[in-house]
Amino acid sequence: MSFERTQEKLKILADAAKYDVSCSSSGSSRTNKNKGLGDSSGMGICHSYTEDGRCVSLLKILLTNHCIFDCAYCVTRKSNDIKRAAFKVQEVVDLTINFYRRNYIEGLFLSSGIFKNADYTMERLVSVAKKLRLEENFNGYIHLKSIPGASDELMREAGLYADRLSVNIEIPTEAGLKKLAPDKNRADFIKPMLKVKNEIVQYKAEKKIIKSTPKYAPAGQSTQMIIGASGENDFQIMQTSNYFYKSYNLKRVYYSGYVPISYDERLPQIGSAVPMMRENRLYQTDWLMRFYGFDVSEILNLQHQNLDLDIDPKLSWALRNLHEFPVDVNTADKRMLARIPGLGMKSVYKILNARRFKRLNWEHLKKIGIALNRAQYFMVCDSNQFERRDLSAEKIKGLILQNSTSKYTKTLSNQLSLFG
Ligand code: SF4
Repeated sequence: MSFERTQEKLKILADAAKYDVSCSSSGSSRTNKNKGLGDSSGMGICHSYTEDGRCVSLLKILLTNHCIFDCAYCVTRKSNDIKRAAFKVQEVVDLTINFYRRNYIEGLFLSSGIFKNADYTMERLVSVAKKLRLEENFNGYIHLKSIPGASDELMREAGLYADRLSVNIEIPTEAGLKKLAPDKNRADFIKPMLKVKNEIVQYKAEKKIIKSTPKYAPAGQSTQMIIGASGENDFQIMQTSNYFYKSYNLKRVYYSGYVPISYDERLPQIGSAVPMMRENRLYQTDWLMRFYGFDVSEILNLQHQNLDLDIDPKLSWALRNLHEFPVDVNTADKRMLARIPGLGMKSVYKILNARRFKRLNWEHLKKIGIALNRAQYFMVCDSNQFERRDLSAEKIKGLILQNSTSKYTKTLSNQLSLFG
């Protein structure tokens, strides 16, 4: 195989992989033993960012962009007239090792179109990871995209070599999937996810009894949903996320604003804006559910089916629930402190810690580094300045937006600049 051909394949297959945002490196720990190559730490691996702001690990590729399916939202679909390529298993192994040795990458994210069938493709993905671990002694991070419909045996093997596995459900609802990918079956996503969930539980339990039990997908599993391709509202999207988090112990759900790539009346027209702000608001909501104790129904429900684009979801919830405020920072519990707009968990812990020694006032809060520009309307402490003076929700929102220097308020639909 000539160097030029490998380079060409790399160009095609790295470009095709950029639409998959479900690549993350956190949560795994694999240490180097027996003079192996590299290791991956809990802090994760380095990522670079493409010009359009998407997070891309340096070796993020597809094994092939051939595919037997014709999902309307996917650049790799079989009816799309594009250059096709496929790596051999050994080629991906060699590229990974070479790039790793040169310090270009700290891990591999490997996804694939589906050639022949799910198992044929999955077997190759697993072979790459297996060769890297067993033949090359590679301890760097490996994230494998699982192929929907892959058999249990292959999913089991995949988790023994990969740090993280993901099955992308792509479209948030079954009806949306039927419309845009009629050949696909939602049950084919569920089966491998369930297998991974059960294996993780079982291997963890066994490890407690038998120390030498290998790790199984130590960084867990994740999935991705495309946003804005199939008409779902934010309530439907976050309900789906909530279901997958709870039912399959997912580590992360990724939200990827649809990039219009085809002339298809079922999809937004080419040239329509990528819903980057909406994507950002969904990530914020996801964060509130996972780390701030919010139930999805508090943020989104039948009365409030879409997230506000001009304000973040916590502020939006607080303005709709002013009867819960003001919160007294000197007496409130952690849950309520975490609900004050503008206060992150770090600030909450600072407050909890500081108030063990004294009752807090404005000066104390400023001294311990609490940002009060939003929080001041929702809290009281030992100073009068913090009193809300019964402002209406509209008034508070107006004041916050007026004084906001948020990068998000500058543009509501464009990609956020990571380089400006
Ligand atoms: S199966 Fe996957 S790679 Fe193939 S067209 Fe559908 S989304 Fe794209």
